[in-house]
Amino acid sequence: MADVLALEAIRKSYAIGTPVETEVLHGIDLTIRAGEFVALIGPSGSGKSTLLNIIGLLDSPTSGRLQVNGEETTRLDDAARTRLRGHAIGFVFQYHYLISAFTAAENVMMPMLVDRGHPDRQMEQRADELLDWVGLSRWRNNRATNMSGGQQQRVAIARALAMEPALVLADEPTGNLDTASADSVFALLRRINAERGTTFLVVTHNMALAERCDRIVELVDGQINAERPGRAEPGAVSKL
Ligand code: ADP
Ligand code: MG
Repeated sequence: MADVLALEAIRKSYAIGTPVETEVLHGIDLTIRAGEFVALIGPSGSGKSTLLNIIGLLDSPTSGRLQVNGEETTRLDDAARTRLRGHAIGFVFQYHYLISAFTAAENVMMPMLVDRGHPDRQMEQRADELLDWVGLSRWRNNRATNMSGGQQQRVAIARALAMEPALVLADEPTGNLDTASADSVFALLRRINAERGTTFLVVTHNMALAERCDRIVELVDGQINAERPGRAEPGAVSKL
C-alpha cells in the first residue's frame, strides 16, 4: 500500500536564546503505510510531541524531508501547508480543546465550517453521522461542558474525522482518562482504523494500549531507539 507518511533525516532544533540552539530530534527516518496503526512511545522529553507537531505541519523541521499523503511538504508555502493540514490530517490531543459553550454537533462541524465559511445541511448530516459513529447520537445537542471526559474525547475524535483525513495524529489521547474510559476510547480509535481505513499515529505512555497497535516505535533522546510489531492480531478489533 502507499505511504501516508515518509520522514527522512528529520532534525529539529529549538532556539533557546541566540546563539544557543538545542537539537531535540537528531535525524528521524520513519515511514507509515496507509491503514497502519502505529504507537509512538518514549520517555517524557524524548521528542514525541515535537515530532507529532512536525508531522502535523504545525511546526517545521530544521532540516530533513517530510512527505504527507504523497506530497513533499518541505517547500510548500503557508497557504498550501494549511490546506494540506486541514484536508489530510486530523488531530486528537490529551486535552480535547472543545469549545465548551458549543454543542457536540457544533464542535464536530467546526473544521468544516472553517473550511467552507458557512454552515449547510450537509455539514450537519456529516456531524450527525460522525457522532453516531462515536456512540454519541443522543448527545448531539448537549454542550461539551456538560459531558464526561470520555464523552468529550469522543467528540474530539469525531471532530478529527470531520474532513475525512488520511492520517490521525493523537498525542496521549487517553492520558487524561480513567482506565475504563481510556480502554474504550482506544478501542474506538482501533475500530475507526479497521472500518474506515484511517491511518493512526498515537503517542501513549500506556504499554498495554501500545501493544494493541500494529507497530511500536520508541523514541529516546530524539532518536528512534527501537521499532517492533505490537501484539495485536492482524484484523483484530476490540469491542467497545
Ligand atoms: P515529549 O513529548 O516526548 O515529552 P517534547 O517533544 O515535548 O517531548 O520535548 C522534547 C524536548 O524539546 C524537551 O527537552 C523539551 O523541553 C524541548 N522543547 C519542546 N518544545 C520546545 C519549545 N517550544 N522550545 C524549546 N524547547 C522545547
Ligand atoms: Mg509530549
